[in-house]
Amino acid sequence: MFKGILVEKDEAGYRATLRDLDEAQLPEGDVTIRVAYSTLNYKDGLAITGKGPVVRKFPLVPGIDLAGTVETSSHADYQAGDLVVLNGWGVGEGHWGGLAQKARLRGDWLVPLPTAFTPRQAMAIGTAGYTAMLCVLALERHGVTPDKGEILVTGAAGGVGSVAVAVLAKLGFTVVATTGRPEEADFLKHLGAAEVLDRALFSSPGKPLGKERWAGAIDVVGSHTLANVCAAMKYRGVVAACGLAGGMDFPASVAPFILRGVTLAGVDSVMCPRPERLVAWQRLGTDLDIAKLDLITSEIALAEAIPTAAKLLEGKVRGRVVVDVN
Ligand code: NDP
Repeated sequence: MFKGILVEKDEAGYRATLRDLDEAQLPEGDVTIRVAYSTLNYKDGLAITGKGPVVRKFPLVPGIDLAGTVETSSHADYQAGDLVVLNGWGVGEGHWGGLAQKARLRGDWLVPLPTAFTPRQAMAIGTAGYTAMLCVLALERHGVTPDKGEILVTGAAGGVGSVAVAVLAKLGFTVVATTGRPEEADFLKHLGAAEVLDRALFSSPGKPLGKERWAGAIDVVGSHTLANVCAAMKYRGVVAACGLAGGMDFPASVAPFILRGVTLAGVDSVMCPRPERLVAWQRLGTDLDIAKLDLITSEIALAEAIPTAAKLLEGKVRGRVVVDVN
């Protein structure tokens, strides 16, 4: 038996509870893992609370991330004792995930734990941090360099945003952060933000084109915020869009794209091909300051993941949450 969070949906309603689970209940897979740590991402918040249609199969253990040790494996690349990390691939959505002491899944989905990190640090990064790195890679791929000008990061006090601020600052970019929490301004400056702006400046309907300011942007908010960010990009600026914390709509015009040559780069972490994952994790090893990661991270026990999920969706969680499942 092992402990895990189970999400169920039946005539009694949608609920997540901490349960004793039997190994026989684990889904099929060629690698069984003793989980050391998991995390809480925005998507886990949706899965646990049922506030978004994330869970596609019931009952399900949520948790889109895990780090742990291989217990048994019939996959050629992994053997008992190996330290591994998992992010995405639909785990915690359609396949049992990381918010439990054990997981069984496809070895093809795993990456070896990067040597730069402990399992806890890898989960402090988690999908949010790895997505932040994918966004930075997208900016780089489209030619954004520190000399081009300021980079805007929205939702900066959250998971993706806080890691993005820390990484961009270490890479020498001038970072401007937006937040709805003025009390987190010092935290964001400590991570490396040169300036902190009120997110309300971006959240109402705006003009198709505004004053050119940003050379690059990482947006986790979507909706009017993403539209306003696009409208304020410099000529040939690049926006990496990865989130919908403010809404899934995109009430924008084509003006920034056809008049200023702005690039909107979509970023998806779930199905991201393995070679790019490995690059992202390797770059996190060199471009994320561990001291800053510690500053971003708080730790909770497995049982606390349920109430913390609701707080995360209310925007009341700072940075990243690591879950000690044991
Ligand atoms: P968090 O909850 O940690 O951070 C989200 C932040 O967005 C909040 O902290 C808040 O920042 C801001 N925010 C929340 N609600 C609103 C709102 N209504 N209007 C404006 N800003 C708001 O979540 P994560 O960092 O884990 O994820 C961020 C987003 O990125 C989510 O939408 C998530 O689904 C998405 N995501 C996408 C991935 C992909 O593969 N494309 C992977 C990972 C995440 P502040 O308080 O500073 O204003």
